[in-house]
Amino acid sequence: MGALEAPHRFVTSRPVKGGFVRLVQARTLAFAPMILIASLALAADAATPVAPPFWSGNPDSAGFRALADGELKTAGDALDRLLQVKGARTVENTFAPYNEALLHADNASYQSGLIEAVHPDSTVRAVAEEETRASSKFLNDLGLNRGVYDALNAINLKSADPTTRYAIEKTLRDFRLSGVDKDEATRKKIAALRDELVQIGQDFDKNIRNDSRTIQLDSAADLDGLPEDYVKSHPAGADGKISISIEYPDFFPVMSYAKSADVRKRLLKEFMNRAYPANMAVLDKMIAKRYELAQLLGFKTWAEYSTRDKMIENDKNVAAFIERLRGLTLKRSTEEYAVYLKRVREDDPAATVVNQWDRHYYGELIRKRDYNFDAQQARPYFPFEEVKQGVLSSTAKMLGLTYKRIENAAVWDPSVEAYEVWEGDKMIGRFFLDLHPRPGKYNHAANFGIRNGVEGIQIPEAALVCNFAGGKPGDPGLMEHGDVVTFFHEFGHLLHSVLGGHEPWENISGISTEWDFVEAPSQMLEEWAWNPGVLQTFAKNYQTGEPIPVEMVERMRKADWFGRATSIAYQTLYSAISLDYYNRPSKEVNTDAILHELEPKYTPYPPVPDTHFQTAFGHLDGYSAIYYTYMWSLVISKDMFSKFDQSDLLNPAIATRYRDTVIGQGGSAPAAKLVHNFLGRDYDFRSFDNWLAGESQQSPKGGKGAGGASAPR
Ligand SMILES: [Zn+2]
Repeated sequence: MGALEAPHRFVTSRPVKGGFVRLVQARTLAFAPMILIASLALAADAATPVAPPFWSGNPDSAGFRALADGELKTAGDALDRLLQVKGARTVENTFAPYNEALLHADNASYQSGLIEAVHPDSTVRAVAEEETRASSKFLNDLGLNRGVYDALNAINLKSADPTTRYAIEKTLRDFRLSGVDKDEATRKKIAALRDELVQIGQDFDKNIRNDSRTIQLDSAADLDGLPEDYVKSHPAGADGKISISIEYPDFFPVMSYAKSADVRKRLLKEFMNRAYPANMAVLDKMIAKRYELAQLLGFKTWAEYSTRDKMIENDKNVAAFIERLRGLTLKRSTEEYAVYLKRVREDDPAATVVNQWDRHYYGELIRKRDYNFDAQQARPYFPFEEVKQGVLSSTAKMLGLTYKRIENAAVWDPSVEAYEVWEGDKMIGRFFLDLHPRPGKYNHAANFGIRNGVEGIQIPEAALVCNFAGGKPGDPGLMEHGDVVTFFHEFGHLLHSVLGGHEPWENISGISTEWDFVEAPSQMLEEWAWNPGVLQTFAKNYQTGEPIPVEMVERMRKADWFGRATSIAYQTLYSAISLDYYNRPSKEVNTDAILHELEPKYTPYPPVPDTHFQTAFGHLDGYSAIYYTYMWSLVISKDMFSKFDQSDLLNPAIATRYRDTVIGQGGSAPAAKLVHNFLGRDYDFRSFDNWLAGESQQSPKGGKGAGGASAPR
């Protein structure tokens, strides 16, 4: 976890946009694939028909509308067939068409969600937004459809195989959570509220996406401390001013390297006021409508409702988990704060506090002097193209996969690349890489589902949407190490969706697992970006071609430990904000006041005055009360990682077992069970606690030697 990680991770790791649409707005139901063959479970060895990639033919706005409407029409037809069945309800005549309806509605939902976030043409994005609302409405209505629920409930499960039984039981539970068993008037209110919440969420996201702010600097001297390639790529404009934006490739280097505290402060304030004031009212409305919805569904609060189907089971456990994290981080982050303050005082003897805009800058200086690590020395080893090839080749090697670039693929922007995933002579998925910023594009990092794979029906497709340096002629695209970590993280989601996307039913395929497990495979893959053996295969100096020295990686790992408690303390704060906005009646929520009350309880840093961080905290829409899921998943990821051979992470043996027992299983069993099958025991906190305590900052090759110490997490 890099120096930049605290602000970085929460904003960049928003996972699985499609998963969010599915789990939040349509959580309510499960999803289901269409059916070609009566008994899919029995047909698992049949080859999956390979349709062309979803973007084939480069649809314009009318074309995209036809595509999404077509998916919804197919879904509606399948539901009609389901409802017309006479006689005994069976898996074949009822769950299969339900599955088909869900799969096609979900295709529409995923694809609209992606295109509204990435298409360069705002008219296409606008159509995609309409289609997102249409598909969400379809799914929300389906979740409240009593006729469909009764039909599914009437299926005789006695002869069903265990996987099918699990899929149907999960479906029925999700129907009940969506409110299908309420009276008709209540169901109508629920449906209206859900539709309204889709629109509110879109407004919230759009305000964040479209508010790209800049600050103007008078001269290059204001960029003192920044790397030469950064200064070069930010020349003065016609008015003599240098414009620096709040987008990641501009923002993070300034926070880490700019000597001018004033420049850092100005940029951070703009960053933290993204979508302010526009989103203040939108957020209040979102919280109020969700509270109302939770009440209609028979829950005390939205937090209670939204944790019911998670591994953690309820919001009380979330609060206890957050408190545990606070206990683990507060003392240590306060000690770290004292180290910062001491260093700040060397520059300014009168300083009494460390400000948030000082944190990354001084973190770099401390790591440089006390840990002998300078992040700027690492950047030349991470030119974008090499990193991309490295992520692809290392994951391909350990998992026995081949990624084939699709030449002349239809893509929504010329910078986007498309790939097929092959295993032996079988194509098992496709993905798109959309990795550089452009106006109007989603400005964090995420894996977007496109088609959830279902064995025998459709192969999985997904897209990585990130905002990395590079992609411009003449620019080597030197990445921060934190970006390399993000790349591996998001690719972990992508692999989960591709490798897990071969179950017989859609509601248990791909990333359709408990939400608080979703971030475990992705956070575990971050470790690959910290491993000298892995890094040496691709991290090569862009000028000399020299691989990154092992001893530099070792210093980087040791330096990384400094600031870790603070980083996790911020994650804990974000988890608390997310919970506390949703765990009480909405009329008691003043988002500024709760933020101000929580901040000093979790971190020693003074709040940044006149900022409203919550307006651009995109997770408050997609994750609502459950930001804790990142930390919960992190605990599990550290435990799973402890089973890997740290001296050879690319070794296929353990990776294959991990794939077979965990990510390759999709959501076909409870996550705790899959993890148990991999670990040979239940997961626990030990690896996480050790990692946080810094027992693992040693690198594998220069490690401490015996025992657990040789297995850094
Ligand atoms: Zn993630």
